[in-house]
Amino acid sequence: MNTQRPRIIIIGAGFGGLFAARTLANQPVDVLLIDRSNFHTFTPLLYQVATCALDPSEIAYPVRTIFRKNRNIRTLLGTVTDIDYANQVVMVENGRQRLQESYDYLILATGSVPTYFGKDVFREHALELRTLNDAINLRNHILELFEQATWIEDEAAREAMTTIVVVGGGPTGLETAGAIYELYNHVLNREYLHRNLQTRVVLVEMQPYLLAPYPEKLRQAALEQLRSLGVEALLGSPVQTVDEHQVVLADGAVIPTYTLVWAAGVKGSPLAEMLNLPLQRGGRLPILPTTEVSDRPGVYAVGDMTYLEDESGQPYPMVIPVAQQQGELAAQNILAEINGREKRPFRYHDRGSMATIGRRRAVAWIYNKVQLRGYLAWLAWLALHLVTLLGFRNRLNVFVNWVWNYFTYDRSVRIILEQGRGEEVISKKRLEIGD
Ligand SMILES: Cc1cc2nc3c(=O)[nH]c(=O)nc-3n(C[C@H](O)[C@H](O)[C@H](O)COP(=O)(O)OP(=O)(O)OC[C@H]3O[C@@H](n4cnc5c(N)ncnc54)[C@H](O)[C@@H]3O)c2cc1C
Repeated sequence: MNTQRPRIIIIGAGFGGLFAARTLANQPVDVLLIDRSNFHTFTPLLYQVATCALDPSEIAYPVRTIFRKNRNIRTLLGTVTDIDYANQVVMVENGRQRLQESYDYLILATGSVPTYFGKDVFREHALELRTLNDAINLRNHILELFEQATWIEDEAAREAMTTIVVVGGGPTGLETAGAIYELYNHVLNREYLHRNLQTRVVLVEMQPYLLAPYPEKLRQAALEQLRSLGVEALLGSPVQTVDEHQVVLADGAVIPTYTLVWAAGVKGSPLAEMLNLPLQRGGRLPILPTTEVSDRPGVYAVGDMTYLEDESGQPYPMVIPVAQQQGELAAQNILAEINGREKRPFRYHDRGSMATIGRRRAVAWIYNKVQLRGYLAWLAWLALHLVTLLGFRNRLNVFVNWVWNYFTYDRSVRIILEQGRGEEVISKKRLEIGD
């Protein structure tokens, strides 16, 4: 009799992978959860780390802590470099070692990466906001340029230093542009008094509107709120060229700047290519409604890296609830397969979407029915993000910080860390507390 329990590997401890692992906790299976970071990142608040409102550790949670009570879940800190689907083995780089881990079932949940829509040369000059390290790099960059701007005599260079261009009119672009504007005008300008620094935040979107999936009234409300805050929104003109000193738009507008934040779009994680299957639009891996990958037995995939269409033929959006619900379903379907039960297809429970633009400014489309804007939408946004953040201590810290920032207009986390060392610092801090 075979007494070995089925072995399930989950690659990625983001939203999809985490929900899959939670569903498999305490089930009669052995789970190995692999991620290249030792923490889970709450992406909706990354922009608040980048703009000095929150400490990185407040939006990151150690993966080991999440599963410390679940004996059937082990975690491995490492980067998956290849998948041998014929022999059901995953190759992992773990510091100095190369490990080979075999599986009976595999769940891919490695998310997405920024895309430059074929203009990869932009990347050389762009700052991204995809990981915690990106957020810390952006924070360093903004603070360093402000320090330099205070001392430079050349007026044109000084203005370019305090001009930020954010590309992308989706929620991330709006939230980042709004928060940078508030950081400049409510915080930094009050502290850099010996020179009156002119600041400028420009949001560029190639479509003639913001927030593409939202109803027209909310798009308009978002634009009005952004402009009333002070952000310049340039719509309908894509970025044409970028270099170290400026961004040039298709309509000929030239914006002198040293800071281009790219929030214009994402494509499926490169791991999707490792299964040697044709990919869909945006480098996304096609999956069946059960979240299985066809022609790759035992392989499931969830979240941003996947492509699945709803009843109307539209692909499910690359958002947290889709990743979470698919992660849960993949795990349930694996258990069903093990127990000889029928697998279920994906049914998306869409609770709507929201985006904040700055203090007391937001838009919300609840259950894709109720439209809110302004203060009420902003309160709804705050409440939702507090509730969904992982860990009581993080929730408490974030709440205290928000209340403090709201009443004092302060941003407490204004430390310039050495470039690229941010995640090491977090990991060290978390290891001391968590492990
Ligand atoms: C700045 C920002 C703000 C966002 N705001 C919102 C929002 O407000 N609401 C919303 O619904 N969605 C938001 N999103 C989108 C949301 O983050 C994604 O839809 C969601 O994270 C997808 O979950 P996932 O599990 O597919 O991937 P992720 O959560 O990205 O997880 C992928 C995981 O895989 C790991 N990984 C990747 N490659 C490897 C490898 N080779 N080896 C090992 N590990 C690997 C990564 O470290 C990561 O932990 C935002 C995204 C960003 C970037």
